Amino acid sequence: MVLLPRSRGRPRRYERFKNSSPMFIEPNTRNGSGGWIEVICGSMFSGKTEELIRRLRRARYANLRVEIFKPEIDNRYHDTDIVSHDENSIASTPVTHSRNILLMAEGVDVVGVDEAQFFDPDILEVVELLAGKGVRVIVAGLDMDYTGKPFGPMPNLLAIADYITKLHAICVRCGAIANYSYRKSAQDKLFVLGEQDVYEARCRRCFKKGDH
Ligand SMILES: [Zn+2]
Repeated sequence: MVLLPRSRGRPRRYERFKNSSPMFIEPNTRNGSGGWIEVICGSMFSGKTEELIRRLRRARYANLRVEIFKPEIDNRYHDTDIVSHDENSIASTPVTHSRNILLMAEGVDVVGVDEAQFFDPDILEVVELLAGKGVRVIVAGLDMDYTGKPFGPMPNLLAIADYITKLHAICVRCGAIANYSYRKSAQDKLFVLGEQDVYEARCRRCFKKGDH
């Protein structure tokens, strides 16, 4: 669903754009064996990982061989959704370098990549090689860092993608559609507990306003 702001009025009021497609629909693959690259991007709390899991789960229901990889990094960024032992979740393999994905994705039909913003620049060539071999590659990642700048290899991944889905969160300040991951000042906290204590989703206006 695409939400369009009304031309007048407060930014929290939105209208539905009637002719939009509600969800990503996989292209028809029957007429060709070629692979492709899908990128799911957006801010924190926009549901990127949920969308990645939804697509991978559908592929798994169809008996396709599915593998998911994420960069091996500080576990502050650990995503419990994807590694939980829930029957519906899909376990992900942490890799130290994107090139390791090529070795571990042998014979796989669908490759998921989570937290792609933290991968090294070689991830571009890796997803191109996989897609060239007929693999469906689904990449999820933050498109902007907390300063609002394009994040790591994400802008380049978006450029080479066949299909792009940009998801949005809801601004915690005003309820408008949020594009930004705002880093809260954590001075008053002795211990940082998790992502939700450090970051919040904000719209453009509230992101620029900062802490005021
Ligand atoms: Zn806002």
